[in-house]
Amino acid sequence: MKAYVIKDREFEEKTDEIWDRLEEEGIEILNRRERTFKSGVRKVRKILKEMGIEAEIGKVDVAECVSCEDYFIEDGSNGGWRECGYLCYACEEYERSEPPATIYIYNDEGYEEDMPHTVGHYINDTEGTFNVSWVSTDAWRGHYEAQSDTYQEIYDDWILAYSKDAEELKKFDEVMIKAMKEAGIRFAKVFTRSSNVFFIGNELWVHKDDMDKFKKLGKLLNEAIEKYRNPTRYTITALTGKDPDECTEEEKLWAIVSASIL
Ligand SMILES: [Zn+2]
Repeated sequence: MKAYVIKDREFEEKTDEIWDRLEEEGIEILNRRERTFKSGVRKVRKILKEMGIEAEIGKVDVAECVSCEDYFIEDGSNGGWRECGYLCYACEEYERSEPPATIYIYNDEGYEEDMPHTVGHYINDTEGTFNVSWVSTDAWRGHYEAQSDTYQEIYDDWILAYSKDAEELKKFDEVMIKAMKEAGIRFAKVFTRSSNVFFIGNELWVHKDDMDKFKKLGKLLNEAIEKYRNPTRYTITALTGKDPDECTEEEKLWAIVSASIL
């Protein structure tokens, strides 16, 4: 899209005053920081003259960020074109720092491929091998869920951050990852974000073409679940935020009763 830009930087101190005035006069401003507006160049010249400001006005290409919907001059300094459309660097940085999903993909030699991949609304490092969608549980809460046509989900769980349960889940992961690497199975570890920072989705996905190989590990999977995944401990920690050892009998009972109601 073509737009106009006020080139001079000298009026920087008066910036807000100018933009407020232009807005009052009905000029469609695109981005104050970038000094861009959509149309009405003659009117803008007149207003600036009235305000005693000498400024050069030029034409530029602008693009709308698909995420924040702000307009940016397309000179590569504020963002770039991606498959999803134009994405500004601020939005890109946000998605990379808080990615809906972080994915570790292991090939048949057990190597991690360019780790980790982030998958979000606008950035997808897996080129579509994995996608995410938001599952809302109510107006404020929910979590991201991964999808894939290439991989099949075989186990999912929640990391209850900083808990004994999370330590046990880590051990479970280590056992499974080691066995799958040894068996030359292509697989992916998928971590997904939820509205609760203490709950992180932890999923294990196996390449569909390696499902036959994986079936041989079915017994090991069940043993590892048995050994490291204790549903009572998980429930108590999830509901109280504490390890069962730190809970009073009352708290434990409350958690178990609550869980049976939920
Ligand atoms: Zn943006």
